Amino acid sequence: MSEKRTDVNQLGEFGLIDHLTKDVDKKVESTEFGIGDDAAVISISDDTSMLISTDMLIEGVHFNLMYMPLKHLGYKAVAVNVSDICAMNGVAEQITVSIAVSSRFPIEALEELYDGINTACKAYNVDLVGGDTTSSLTGLTISITAIGRAAKKDISYRSGASEFDLLVVTGDLGAAYMGLQLLEREKEVYKANPNIQPDLDGHDYIMQRQLKPEARVDIIKFLRELNVVPSSMIDISDGLASEIMHLCKSSEVGCHIYGEKIPIDTTTSTSALEFNLDPVTCALNGGEDFELLFTVKQEDFDKIKGNPHMTFIGHMTDKSEGIYHVDKAGSLVELQAQGWDHFDKKN
Ligand code: ADP
Ligand code: MG
Repeated sequence: MSEKRTDVNQLGEFGLIDHLTKDVDKKVESTEFGIGDDAAVISISDDTSMLISTDMLIEGVHFNLMYMPLKHLGYKAVAVNVSDICAMNGVAEQITVSIAVSSRFPIEALEELYDGINTACKAYNVDLVGGDTTSSLTGLTISITAIGRAAKKDISYRSGASEFDLLVVTGDLGAAYMGLQLLEREKEVYKANPNIQPDLDGHDYIMQRQLKPEARVDIIKFLRELNVVPSSMIDISDGLASEIMHLCKSSEVGCHIYGEKIPIDTTTSTSALEFNLDPVTCALNGGEDFELLFTVKQEDFDKIKGNPHMTFIGHMTDKSEGIYHVDKAGSLVELQAQGWDHFDKKN
């Protein structure tokens, strides 16, 4: 290591990944696609590929055990990895789980964590096939690797979108972010006065979206049934705006998205207004919805139109036209990715 010290904040998360992996090359024939998508793609036969994705969750950065029960944390850690396999239009089959644990955690706490992991394995029909366990000086870290499978002809990369393709999002957005705002607010109230009971009434949906997100394995099934292979796809972990920019960058296209079309649950809008936030801004920039964002060819429009799980929110343009959010008044605002960049935070 040289004497020079450069702060990682200079590059941000994505810049850092690009910087560290710029010299990575492909040496092995079976490596179909390495770094730069939701999962790596490894060829296992003429027509089938294996998909591999890893995600790490760190106490104090990705979760706070003051309001995140360990059972939910275990479930969520599996769901977010299965979601990355869905984002390739594949089916997850196995996971490995690695944990680093400080002495603060009794065995009972870790049993709870594994209860959540096992519940998710059952829900997503995946087998836990290995992992690693170590001690930690600073709280809890969970790293999960998901392994999945897809027919080569079905795999959706981030890079496959073309001009005129239609942009589709599943479910609704912004709820997980509002759930987090609510839990953070109640945590502060509790810290100030532990006798006050948290005021979470009527907020079940947004809390559930934050504490127990689901991978959209159902959408992968629907797409097969509808005979639609998305031309590109990504899952929404960092926020819609940030993921749209990933699709556009990888596919070398521009995009127009229509704020009014973004699906937002009424309870999300109500809570956003309670917090003096604009619901569309929350949907664009709030993270952790784990919905799928994908593009389809225009000829697939009729297959998806009216589907209660999928909403058209825009279309892809030529790269030179840029990436724009068209607001209610019809004005074009250049899209800014303000998603969650963990290196931006002061921790
Ligand atoms: P996602 O948000 O879907 O989990 P990431 O933004 O974490 O994806 O990662 C983007 C790409 O960079 C993925 O292909 C991932 O495997 C790769 N990647 C992330 N961190 C590293 C690292 N430290 N070394 C090598 N590849 C990495
Ligand atoms: Mg992803």
